[in-house]
Amino acid sequence: MSTATYPLPRRRTRQVQVGKLLIGGDATITVQSMTKVPTHDVDAVIKQIDDVQAAGCDIIRLGIPDKKAALALTEIKKRARIPIVADIHFDHELALIAIDAGVDKLRLNPGNIKKPEFVKKIVESAAAAKIPIRIGVNNGSIPHELRDKYPFTPDGNADALVECALSHVTILEELGFQDIVVSLKASDIITTVLAYRKMAAIRDYPLHIGITEAGLAPTGLIRSAVGIGQLLAEGIGDTLRVSLTGDPVAEVEAGWSILQSLNMRPGGIIITSCPTCARCDINLEAITLELTRKTEATGRKLRAAGKSLHVAVMGCEVNGPGEARDAEIGIAGGMHSGLLMKNGQIIARIKEADFVSRLLEEIEIETASIVLVSQ
Ligand code: SF4
Repeated sequence: MSTATYPLPRRRTRQVQVGKLLIGGDATITVQSMTKVPTHDVDAVIKQIDDVQAAGCDIIRLGIPDKKAALALTEIKKRARIPIVADIHFDHELALIAIDAGVDKLRLNPGNIKKPEFVKKIVESAAAAKIPIRIGVNNGSIPHELRDKYPFTPDGNADALVECALSHVTILEELGFQDIVVSLKASDIITTVLAYRKMAAIRDYPLHIGITEAGLAPTGLIRSAVGIGQLLAEGIGDTLRVSLTGDPVAEVEAGWSILQSLNMRPGGIIITSCPTCARCDINLEAITLELTRKTEATGRKLRAAGKSLHVAVMGCEVNGPGEARDAEIGIAGGMHSGLLMKNGQIIARIKEADFVSRLLEEIEIETASIVLVSQ
């Protein structure tokens, strides 16, 4: 069972606390999502929070469009089991209600709050409550004067994003507040990557990374993986959200997949399967689909325990034995049969019809103690 992470370089940032979690410094890179039901509908919100938490969501953000939503936060905070971020625009009263309700973090751009004294009130309350503020700028809401100042190129747009974020950051800094997280998202991947690189070079605040408005899966997944993956591989990014049109659980699954693809966070069952070709004499796609479905619950429990298990399902003897050997449990297929391998050793030759049941047995043996502990 693996808990190892690959030693990619990681940019050193300040650290902030969000509930019991830390963002930045050497803290584990967290996965976030956002609820997509009306915030005043507390039961629906809690159901969605429980669903994303079961999938491995660390921190959940809620849009607070009005007072009804802000007032629901007290009840939501009582019932939610992961940290809550209140996402507020323009209205300082909503921010004050959210802080009173006990939220764990605000997402708020202080430059959009009408009066400096209102910003001061928010900052004083956030500091007293010891909660951080994420400044989140999006390409879609860059002011016209900044758009006009820079050329309409990825580099120019990135400069505009950074200048916009800095204008908000400076407001907080001048009030002596440095519990700051920053995000600079664009739907264009190159712009986003350039903006984060530029911000990383000038401030040491932790960065919340993502590609905004990435769209539907699978395109949105790929766009997010390319952008977020690029940044993470450069050591940039302390917490992430995959922004998809659709179920927030899919955002969380995608966030984990990205981290696991870079070996940055163990958690869950990782299934390697070959694409199949003319050499494949087993129905590998059906086997892999069934195995994936039947290991979903165990994978989530492993994720909660911070452990990974690598399982390989391979079609033939060309790459099969090597991949199966590298996994903790693997099968190298043959003619309607295959070699079952565990920790690099062949332990049985089995029939194709028994692949899934034998793999499940071996997974159960490997994970029983972990799964029991995490229940
Ligand atoms: Fe083809 Fe074998 Fe490679 Fe699978 S492992 S893609 S069956 S050569």
